[in-house]
Amino acid sequence: MNTKLTAGIVILCICFGIGTWSIVTMPKSGRTILHLPYLFIRPTERPIPTPTARPVLVQPVRVPILMYHYVEIVKDPKDTIREGLDILPKTMDAQIATFLSHGYTPIFMSDLAAYLDGKGTLPDKPIVFTFDDGYRDFYTDAYPILQKYHVKATSYVVPGFLDKPNYMTKQEVMDIASSGLVEVAAHTVHHVSLKGISPQLLHAEIYGSKTQLEHLIGKPVIDFAYPYGSYDSAAVIAVSAAGFRTATTTRPGIIQSPDYRFTLLRLRPGARTGTYLISWLESIKK
Ligand SMILES: [Zn+2]
Repeated sequence: MNTKLTAGIVILCICFGIGTWSIVTMPKSGRTILHLPYLFIRPTERPIPTPTARPVLVQPVRVPILMYHYVEIVKDPKDTIREGLDILPKTMDAQIATFLSHGYTPIFMSDLAAYLDGKGTLPDKPIVFTFDDGYRDFYTDAYPILQKYHVKATSYVVPGFLDKPNYMTKQEVMDIASSGLVEVAAHTVHHVSLKGISPQLLHAEIYGSKTQLEHLIGKPVIDFAYPYGSYDSAAVIAVSAAGFRTATTTRPGIIQSPDYRFTLLRLRPGARTGTYLISWLESIKK
């Protein structure tokens, strides 16, 4: 083949090659690409990946979590511990009436959990009524008041104490759990102070209380309270690892933050009622 013919063929091939390369602007993404066989095959658009859900930025929120222990008329005048933790049923009744008349909406701890997860909204003036320890009087004295006003509450139950004197029976816990008014939550198996205890005991008391209560009531138990308000970082990690979604302390405060969902703040309403109760609550800023 002579040289001129060879050179001609090479130049022809180069020109054809350049001609078939095309600058293509993709219609959806707007990206410009260099595409070879555009003359023959229309390039397929690369699918735009569906954006993965970004974590929702949840703002700290003002939610009073009120803490109750005994609600009864203490019969033994020497029982000063009980008296110190007690409010009279008529006081609790008056407090609930006051909160409702001032536009507060009772919610469960699990409602706050959903909000902190970025999955739920809260009513205008949310409030949580929590009752610690699963005492008998929750069933005999507090629960009827909740029913009277149709008010939601969260009851922190100690499963190892059920059916013992002074505590609710298993049947009573099943009753309140199925009422729709009371959310059953956990408070360790034996009301143990969690600070500084072994990892094995932490697991047994925290995870054990969740599974025992779930087995009893047939519903998820996702909220926890530290007995005596006692916890350390190992306890917080164990509560989270057990699958709980919130945990409350006895530290006072009203602003609940997703960063502190396992060390939430609570308030003791004491015997305050009426406008004194409301002005006390509304004076609390953090
Ligand atoms: Zn307790």
